[in-house]
Amino acid sequence: MVHEGQVSDTLIPEQSLDPGLYIVATPIGNLGDITLRAIDVLKRCEGVACEDTRVTGKLLKHLGISKPLWRYDDHSEHRDRTRLVDSMRTRAVVLVSDAGTPLVSDPGYRLVNDCRAEGIPVTVVPGACAAIAGLSLSGLPNDRFLFAGFLPGKDKARREFLEELAPVDTTLVFHETSPRLLKSLETIGEVLPHREVAVARELTKLHEECRRGLTHGLVAYYEAHPPKGEIVLLVGPPVPIEASEADADILLAEALQTLKPSQAASRVAKETGLDRKQLYARAMELREG
Ligand code: SAM
Repeated sequence: MVHEGQVSDTLIPEQSLDPGLYIVATPIGNLGDITLRAIDVLKRCEGVACEDTRVTGKLLKHLGISKPLWRYDDHSEHRDRTRLVDSMRTRAVVLVSDAGTPLVSDPGYRLVNDCRAEGIPVTVVPGACAAIAGLSLSGLPNDRFLFAGFLPGKDKARREFLEELAPVDTTLVFHETSPRLLKSLETIGEVLPHREVAVARELTKLHEECRRGLTHGLVAYYEAHPPKGEIVLLVGPPVPIEASEADADILLAEALQTLKPSQAASRVAKETGLDRKQLYARAMELREG
């Protein structure tokens, strides 16, 4: 039995698409990663809203598809968005971004919400997504993870952003650019010490690579081999390290410079695997000097 939306149903080319918005993922490098369903929906839609008509034009040309292209981003005039949403009452409109899954650090959030508010049907055609590809390739713990978008470019903002994420006990996933990689690795080394990091670069492309290690090793490598291309940066969860009481004192003293004793104890407990209550008692002693 075939249910609505199953592949065998959606691949009948003659059947026109129902009106509405279709969010379609496109490849992040290797054009072979376009899905059969994405091709089918692109063939049968009445137009494509995209970030850059040249980029999407090239993809459609490669697929042998010709459709009207409309430039769209979430900063487009409200009037233009309203017109686009209105058109979806009678037409099937596809939303794509330059690469990967729309709405993941890409436009579409406002469009999808306007469609929902107007009762326009929204359908997703999933596919490539750099953050998820990087997570799989890295082999870092992925039972839970937190995707945190791009790290801020400014030093202070980046540090504060990472400090906020420090208590999160999962793998952290960031979008990164090659010119900023070294600075980001350095700040991660300072704010999230002892955590394993993975740099997943040029995913699905000719020079795909994934390097894993501690930040100082990665910094040394990328100083010697300046990175090029697109990057997903991942930070593994805190791993307890073997620590003596003397080590714990050093870590506590460091943490107490910016944190309350209870917070310092929690952080050092996570880093060392030592008992949090004992660390708290020691933090109080250190604070009272
Ligand atoms: N929506 C896209 C997705 O689902 O993959 C992400 C768009 S975001 C504007 C662009 C960022 O995605 C890049 O700066 C990089 O961090 C990551 N990215 C995109 N393609 C990549 C690739 N082939 N390899 C590694 N990272 C990639």
